[in-house]
Amino acid sequence: MLDIIKLLPDSVANQIAAGEVIQRPASAVKELMENALDAGATQIDLVVKDAGKTMIMVVDNGCGMSETDARLCFERHATSKISKAEDLFNIRTMGFRGEALASIAAIAQVELKTRRKEDEVGVKIVNEGSVVKEQSLVPMQPGTTFTVKNLFFNVPARRNFLKSPQAEMRHIVEEFTRVTLMNPEIGFTLNSDGKEIYHLYPGNLKQRIMGLFGSNYEEKLLPVHQEAERVRIDGYIVKAEYAKKTRGEQYFFVNKRFIKHAYLHHAIENAFLEMIPKDSFPGYFLNIEVDPADIDINIHPTKTEVNFLDVKLVYAILHAAVRKAIGQHNLSPMIDFEESADLNNDFSAAMSMSNPLTMPNIPLDPNFNPFRKESATREPQWERPREGNHTPGDWRILYGERTDLPEEPLEQKEEPKPTVHYLQVNQSYIVTTVKSGLLVIDQHLAHARVLFEKFLKEMENSNGVSQQELFPQALTLNMNDASLLKEMLPELENLGFVLEQANPTTFMINGTPADAAGCDAVALLEQILDNYKINRTDLQLDRKLSLAKTMSAQLSIKAQTKLSEMEMQNIVDQLFACNVAEVAPDGKKIYVILNMEDCFK
Ligand code: ADP
Ligand code: MG
Repeated sequence: MLDIIKLLPDSVANQIAAGEVIQRPASAVKELMENALDAGATQIDLVVKDAGKTMIMVVDNGCGMSETDARLCFERHATSKISKAEDLFNIRTMGFRGEALASIAAIAQVELKTRRKEDEVGVKIVNEGSVVKEQSLVPMQPGTTFTVKNLFFNVPARRNFLKSPQAEMRHIVEEFTRVTLMNPEIGFTLNSDGKEIYHLYPGNLKQRIMGLFGSNYEEKLLPVHQEAERVRIDGYIVKAEYAKKTRGEQYFFVNKRFIKHAYLHHAIENAFLEMIPKDSFPGYFLNIEVDPADIDINIHPTKTEVNFLDVKLVYAILHAAVRKAIGQHNLSPMIDFEESADLNNDFSAAMSMSNPLTMPNIPLDPNFNPFRKESATREPQWERPREGNHTPGDWRILYGERTDLPEEPLEQKEEPKPTVHYLQVNQSYIVTTVKSGLLVIDQHLAHARVLFEKFLKEMENSNGVSQQELFPQALTLNMNDASLLKEMLPELENLGFVLEQANPTTFMINGTPADAAGCDAVALLEQILDNYKINRTDLQLDRKLSLAKTMSAQLSIKAQTKLSEMEMQNIVDQLFACNVAEVAPDGKKIYVILNMEDCFK
């Protein structure tokens, strides 16, 4: 028998291997740009023709290569970046496998021009299909220029497999975006078929995001910064109100390397969960800095996947970082209540639902400067209440009695006068003045937000106030629902429910949360179960969110409910003491500010 195993010639082996690293023009763009970064360039220019199919050129002003290195760099596993296996665990450069240039040269016509600072002239090498065709000296500035022509010229199957120029160009722009985002201190340009598409000047990350996505991002971004022992997170998230209907601006980096990570993505989505409508996606540009020893980046040739040693820890830190950013944003003093507004009660009558809205005579302070400290003559009303400022008792007075007295405002009672005036419009909206105009708040959404955060806290601290039922009701369920309810018992009890299992499918409702006074407890629990089934996941966090969402939606005051001024003030105070005052748990906007000038017009 003849031996039948043959060793493949290098050129074929290279072509096969190349397919793994270089799938399309964008992959070559990525590898060349990353090499330029690794070479310490401060300016990198990318030029493409026909979406990279005809030509890709990357010009850098980095360290350049010696003549020998210029020849060597096309060899497989030729790299200046690691020399022993342990180095793999300490990678700070983008490339490290020494595969990219060998792969590109195997499937394209490559021209390399490179010059080190210390050399008088540069060297030019032409390599086609892994064969050196030409080598000469050339005059040039220090740095390196790679020109890749006719990608896949010798792999027609691959070349024909490429998508439309528009699609391939999108891939190129995406790679360009990923590389440029994490290197804002470096200048970049992208030129396609003779047109300059991007001109990015050196700056900071915020300026880079604006350079890539538009200057209107200035106001859309919230900074994120979190430092823990082994992890540091920096970057920006897009404010909830600018969430997009398409999964677009989601950029995760680990040690500045772009990665995709479904689990960590979930940490962010979760942090935004109750603020973004179901069909929208949060935007983010975040870099996670970890000790290279804590990650394994060597598991995929295109390297967008990373394994963390302790991914749960990173998840928790990331989640906390995003929550903190959102919270700080919502606590920032954007609204300043107008104390001296001369509103009287006659006006309140004029604002009843049938009458058209007429403008009160509000003295304006033309010298008011919201950024000057001394102009704030008093503490804003909505500051986070100090401990004990809002006892649960306030809430019982406010909402515990509302079902009994739907048409009777609590005004009749002897109560302290609010310090700011509030009007109710259409028995649904709370209107008050702030420095910048009229603040119009949806009472139902505002109260839902307040209750939502309250319930979440109660579940965290197990301190929900419970109210005993005089006549305990029975809740009878099927086996499946009964076991779901059992799953939720700890959270339900923390909220103030007192449930006792009478038999496998029946629970006695012995107590309900104080906030649920006067409400149909059986219907409420059934609703909770229904929503839980819809949103069900394994995460305990999601269970709490689902519960808090259902409870707050069911128990918040509805539209068309008359409120006293004191009740309105309480809602407004509580709303602006919330972590997130702008949007309801379902993502709807809670309030708008009508600009004073617009009002006068
Ligand atoms: P890797 O980046 O994984 O080391 P590459 O095949 O991308 O492998 O590059 C091989 C080597 O060529 C690099 O290690 C580097 O020494 C050199 N090189 C590539 N591009 C450049 C460049 N733009 N400037 C200077 N040296 C470069
Ligand atoms: Mg490389």
